[in-house]
Amino acid sequence: MGYDVHPFVEGRPLILGGITIPHHQGLAGHSDADCLAHAICDALLGAVSEGDLGRHFPDTDPQYKDVESLLLLKKVNERVEQKGFRITNIDATIVAQAPRLVPFLPHMEDRLATTMGVEKERVNVKATTTEGLGFTGRGEGIAAYAVALVEGR
Ligand SMILES: [Zn+2]
Repeated sequence: MGYDVHPFVEGRPLILGGITIPHHQGLAGHSDADCLAHAICDALLGAVSEGDLGRHFPDTDPQYKDVESLLLLKKVNERVEQKGFRITNIDATIVAQAPRLVPFLPHMEDRLATTMGVEKERVNVKATTTEGLGFTGRGEGIAAYAVALVEGR
């Protein structure tokens, strides 16, 4: 399982699941701050006993500054395959009060599935609010949860 949070800031694009979403704020981070992609990376790395994203791609490494997170996801999936596993399915939930993400979810699933080289049916992305409660409810940032199931080849 993977969990990730990024705070909102002005002047950055909002990128989730590799899709740029129209919004007046984006997420702060060393990379493109794609919270959903990071949660999925952590879920996959965890499933094959490979620690977490920070261990493989340290945010102190200038090489990964503003890097497209789907590129990291691609590398993570290569690691999964090197270890002799393949993805059975991915399920994820984005927690955001705004913007409304539902219209973008199928497009995110498409891009994520293509990046990981799996059928779209194996990738599910949901979105929810917290009814105004907590940091996501106050619009301070976005959180994402992901669960990955892998099988030995
Ligand atoms: Zn992150």
